[in-house]
Amino acid sequence: MKRVLVATLLCCILAGCFTECSARIKDTSSRIIHPLSLKEVKVNDPFWSPRYKVWTSVTVYDVLDKLEGKYVPDRQDIIEEKEKTGRTRNALLNFDLVAQGKKNIDAHDGPPWYDGLLYETIRGAADLLIQYPDPKLEHKIDGYIDRIAAAQAIDPDGYLNTYTTLTRPDKRWGTNGGDDKWQHDIYNAGMLTEAAVHYYYATGKTKLLSVAVKLVNYMYKEMGPAPKKNVIPGHAGPEEALVKLYRLFKDNPGLKKQMNGPVDEQQYLQLAKFWIEDRGNYGESDGSHKRNSDSTYNQDHLPVFQQQTIEGHAVRATLLATGVAAMALENNDARYINTADHYWENMIGKRMFITGGEGAIANGERFGNDFYLPESAYLETCASIGAGFFTGKMNELKADGRYMDEFERIIYNNLLSGISLSGDHYFYENPLLATDHHRWAWHSCPCCPPMILKMVSALPQYIYAHGDDAVYVNLFIGSDANFSLSNHRKIFIKQTTQYPWKGVVRIEVSPVKDDVFALNIRIPGWAHSKENPFDLYSSKVTEPVTLTVNGQQVNVNPVNGYAVIQRKWKKGDVVELTLPMQPRIVYPNEAVKTVKGKAALASGPVVYALEGTDNTSIDSIGIKKDNKLSISYKSGLLNGINIITSVEGQDSSKKFTAIPFYSIGNRSTSPYKVWLPVRE
Ligand SMILES: [Zn+2]
Repeated sequence: MKRVLVATLLCCILAGCFTECSARIKDTSSRIIHPLSLKEVKVNDPFWSPRYKVWTSVTVYDVLDKLEGKYVPDRQDIIEEKEKTGRTRNALLNFDLVAQGKKNIDAHDGPPWYDGLLYETIRGAADLLIQYPDPKLEHKIDGYIDRIAAAQAIDPDGYLNTYTTLTRPDKRWGTNGGDDKWQHDIYNAGMLTEAAVHYYYATGKTKLLSVAVKLVNYMYKEMGPAPKKNVIPGHAGPEEALVKLYRLFKDNPGLKKQMNGPVDEQQYLQLAKFWIEDRGNYGESDGSHKRNSDSTYNQDHLPVFQQQTIEGHAVRATLLATGVAAMALENNDARYINTADHYWENMIGKRMFITGGEGAIANGERFGNDFYLPESAYLETCASIGAGFFTGKMNELKADGRYMDEFERIIYNNLLSGISLSGDHYFYENPLLATDHHRWAWHSCPCCPPMILKMVSALPQYIYAHGDDAVYVNLFIGSDANFSLSNHRKIFIKQTTQYPWKGVVRIEVSPVKDDVFALNIRIPGWAHSKENPFDLYSSKVTEPVTLTVNGQQVNVNPVNGYAVIQRKWKKGDVVELTLPMQPRIVYPNEAVKTVKGKAALASGPVVYALEGTDNTSIDSIGIKKDNKLSISYKSGLLNGINIITSVEGQDSSKKFTAIPFYSIGNRSTSPYKVWLPVRE
């Protein structure tokens, strides 16, 4: 075992890579399948590649510039703020003030989590740099890291949260009458840690990693079972971040020497476990080890293993669930796996919107009750993305295509709706019905743009996965992948498709030497009339799914969501999958009273909406169960989309044009709706 580990590490070092070597190390983890590293897959796709061009040339700079205060306020709250202060807010200024030794000055730019938003953007930028090297961007980030490190260097313990230092330095971690749910001390530390790990993988640079290690070592000293402080993150996210830090040092022990302080990666895992398992524990019966918190808002209402439903602030909840699943991958503890299952089943089976949106309720930005899925729901972009990270982790744990079905629902709908086609305007809320819904350039709480960057930059990793003797095709995105199965069996895969506008997916499989393994191709639930694994939504398609190998038809028969093709593969073998992209009518479960008597339109993974720009009076438009629908590609519309039109004669109340939900709000702020009344 040890020899395998050494050989693997040596191979990684020789290859000059900083990739997540865990993919090739056998250990006690319960991981069934491994995602590829970002260095092993390259997107080359007519739908996604033009978007990456926008995200790398516009969005990442846009978010960083705006975090530095280079924005023109376009929302009332930040317009008023600028009028009052005479300037825009600058996240970097906070670090500079702390580095100058300023403390308790009652001045801080932006919300308490502004540090965290900068770190999240650095993480997204780091992942983008792996796929799209950009020396100018890397130089810019190095400059930020110098300023972050200077702010930390002022504190002998390595403590860093600019909001707390500048406004309430005696309330670190929300103690002494403070509140980490507001202060975000631990959340920001977690996001710093993630940024540091990702930036190391991208560049091999260790400065930010040293900052993170010092801060995490300090947190480990401060928090934990008595006599340490009874403190958990007011906002989840740091749990998964510490699992990543643990993984990094476990897989790269030589890296420890490059840190400025000691590294014991087991401590990082212990602290993450404490943060998860201490939820719902407010102290001992004798009053010792006390914590003032009992809130569903940050999932602290019950011990975590007793939490049967996903509750509270939807971003916090989905990120805690991601942390629980990430920990389950490391410790194979049935309590963690069961808890992750409960969260997922409740979320997907009873609380997820048809667009992949999460968090129905504006007050507390939280999950509503089961089957409470109103059209005007809140649906923060970040919550849907958190659900995406969670369901992606579940796929690593269980290798079941249904997890990627829901991942796909999120990325083609609620994720992409969060960002304009131009890449510099954003939605915070993504309701399914609105009359005057504006994208904004910047927000008083601009959490969604960094979260969008984190997900889109990570997306190539979700296209494929592998086990020892199995390859998984999870997403239909044109791409080239170069990776190895067990015993260094190298494989090259080339995927070509016009998905989601056409259903044909060509997968060329080329092992370096003829090789026996199973190619698992996800067959989406919607493609065989299983819209949702728990029938929260239902639909029917009549065209079949077809699959060929070198032109010969093979059986589809999905097992755990995948068609399995086990054979001896030769260089240049071609698999062709054809999915039924005919428009379909989707109905909600009868338990969903909020959209009773209504139906929505979809084609493939894309959910559709009617927008006022294309339809004279969307209020009066309904749909009949036997409505004839036609679908066609419009290259000049909204950067190229399929539209769905009704072909119901001359009656204008029956005619409509529907566009992908993600593309709403790019031409105007005219009304739109997803659910249509069903007419007899
Ligand atoms: Zn957000």
